[in-house]
Amino acid sequence: MPDPRPRSSTPTLATRSVETLDGALDRIGRSSFRAKFHLSPADARYARDRGRREIETHAARFIGERLAAADPDNDGRQTPMRGHPVFLAQHATATCCRGCLAKHHGIVKHHPLTDEHQVYVVAVIMRWIERELRRLPHDSCRAPLPPSKHRRPGMSSDAALF
Ligand SMILES: [Zn+2]
Repeated sequence: MPDPRPRSSTPTLATRSVETLDGALDRIGRSSFRAKFHLSPADARYARDRGRREIETHAARFIGERLAAADPDNDGRQTPMRGHPVFLAQHATATCCRGCLAKHHGIVKHHPLTDEHQVYVVAVIMRWIERELRRLPHDSCRAPLPPSKHRRPGMSSDAALF
């Protein structure tokens, strides 16, 4: 008989709850270096214009291309300080390089990130962006733009933040 129980009794990274993600973000945000990163109104507008699913796709791509290798190119300097909400989120959440992932998230260096690690890192980034968007009212940052082509009716309440 195969054992029906999961192989590990500890929760996996990917199944960490919103509360756990918030705990990690609160802990990391106590660093004054991390706490100084915020989405600008333009970043918030971009995120809302593109929508949650697309920003999540960008995040997954950046992580896959810039962080997932055992020893990524230019490690420690591969994440720009501006230019995309995900980049800011990475600096704010200590998911910017393998050193920060090791130090703040316990993900060891010199091994490729597993799929589970990548899902976790994207979840951390997306949670930070959600928290930032909650801080930034819609009206102040959407007013100058025409209605977005990317938004569709019937988005989930989670997506409504964006
Ligand atoms: Zn870093």
